[in-house]
Amino acid sequence: MKVRAPSTDGRYFEVRQLIHGAGLHTICEEARCPNIAECWGRGTATFQILGDTCTRACRYCYVHSGKPGPVDPLEPLRLAQTAARMGLDHVVVTSVDRDDLPDRGAAHYASTIRALRAKVPHGTVEVLTPDFLGVEEHALRTVLAAHPDVFNHNIETVRRLHRRMRGAKASYDGALALLRRARELAEAPLLTKSGIIVGLGESNDEIVATMRDLREAGVDVVTIGQYLQPSAKHTRIDRWVHPDEFAWLREQGEALGFGSVFAGPLVRSSYRADEQRAAASLAT
Ligand code: SF4
Repeated sequence: MKVRAPSTDGRYFEVRQLIHGAGLHTICEEARCPNIAECWGRGTATFQILGDTCTRACRYCYVHSGKPGPVDPLEPLRLAQTAARMGLDHVVVTSVDRDDLPDRGAAHYASTIRALRAKVPHGTVEVLTPDFLGVEEHALRTVLAAHPDVFNHNIETVRRLHRRMRGAKASYDGALALLRRARELAEAPLLTKSGIIVGLGESNDEIVATMRDLREAGVDVVTIGQYLQPSAKHTRIDRWVHPDEFAWLREQGEALGFGSVFAGPLVRSSYRADEQRAAASLAT
């Protein structure tokens, strides 16, 4: 796999200046995403709210784990102003897990969506949320009341590996239930979405079984991408999935009825999220 380096051809340095100047975090940087030169070069990024420290420690994720600081109440406004300056049509917002907060950060998500509606009135908003462990129903109602266009929660891996990779707090069935409930509670049109990382020790049949579970939970969009070990401390790559296998997985997903299946070595949940949404909107 080859990725391009940041260059002055596109908007990479402009985007970096806007984001850093506003004191915001992105999952692009925090997770060391390999697509950063491409995505920022085309003027897009995925914002990470609620700080840079996660209360979980998944074995594949580079985001810093520990005790987070206080929530910044002005972050939603700065994020919305930055998204407007970037000229984004589709804004993707994710966060660290905040198991330390009584609402797990749900109200901050809602404030961010509302700030984006005010500052980017013609844009669409996608949220990629944590599992809101223990307060799922309340948190979902809070987030969905702000009317995101896309609700994304990544299942990340297959049933057999879920606990090993994500820790005892995370639950495969809990992730499915969250996605199903989001679909049920939505009052406005809503696309639901989830992502799978491959190369963690799963088989292709297990990936198809996970896609089937996601479809049964009413999920519209799925992304499948290759795991890349971010440091020596993280779990090792079990296998490199061949592009032909990704093509086969995409066909399987399309046959299951997803509105959009993005599958490829460098596909990430938020990779070309505007195009994923557009494809799914046309299909549904
Ligand atoms: S794929 Fe997502 S996380 Fe990675 S650089 Fe692009 S927008 Fe950022």
